[in-house]
Amino acid sequence: MPRKYSVKSHKVQRIAKERIKFLFQEARDAFKHNVNHSDKYVKMARRIAMKYKIKLPSELKKLFCKNCYKYLVPGVNCRVRIHKHRVIYYCMGCRHYMRHIVK
Ligand SMILES: [Zn+2]
Repeated sequence: MPRKYSVKSHKVQRIAKERIKFLFQEARDAFKHNVNHSDKYVKMARRIAMKYKIKLPSELKKLFCKNCYKYLVPGVNCRVRIHKHRVIYYCMGCRHYMRHIVK
């Protein structure tokens, strides 16, 4: 039997969004002490977003690598450059480039 995908209510989605925001805050704080912990928080936040079908806002998308899902801090494990009206994030962990268009 095919699995039914229920439409998540707005209330549940709002709580999930708050949790995602909180997890990214925690990831930022944990980065100073243990990098692995912040990567774990990113993983948890992504899982919540996928479960409740939430689109991560662009400011949160820039905080982790799209390839290895590591938490990125510019100047520490990530390089930020501007090229042809695009902000380019370079992950030093997996050497992956991410391009964000600036409006
Ligand atoms: Zn990476």
